Amino acid sequence: MLVADYDIVFQEVPDETTLALNISDCPHHCPGCHSSYLWQPVGDVLTPEWLQRLIDRYPYITCVSIQGGDRDYHEVERVAQWVHMQGKKTCWYTGFAKLPEDLQMQGFDYIKVGPYIEALGGLKSKTTNQRFYRVTPEGLRDMTDVFWK
Ligand code: SF4
Repeated sequence: MLVADYDIVFQEVPDETTLALNISDCPHHCPGCHSSYLWQPVGDVLTPEWLQRLIDRYPYITCVSIQGGDRDYHEVERVAQWVHMQGKKTCWYTGFAKLPEDLQMQGFDYIKVGPYIEALGGLKSKTTNQRFYRVTPEGLRDMTDVFWK
């Protein structure tokens, strides 16, 4: 899995200071995508050592968000579980319309599901097809409406 770039963000995951990792080689190619540079396989290989250096550089982050990685979501699971072991929360932004049935949920605190459909808009649009969930022991809790306030 390759990380094209990263940023510290405050809105992608509500109430968290998030290290967002933009994973390249996105398979979805949504029309109107604002990040089409992520369609090509570019960037650094995401290893625990690489990620540990970033976490050490930004110790104040509370969450790591994996933005993409849909070609190898079992690797996304492994990264999320590793991040949990470092004491940080995790989020996955996936362009899948539905979560894979065999996805292991225990490493995730938040998940955003859904491709970008230009006519419906992103998470900040009330007409969006995308959903943002809190992962709880009881299942997924839809908190998409937090983005509309
Ligand atoms: S999933 Fe995201 S990065 Fe991939 S094409 Fe769609 S909008 Fe772009």
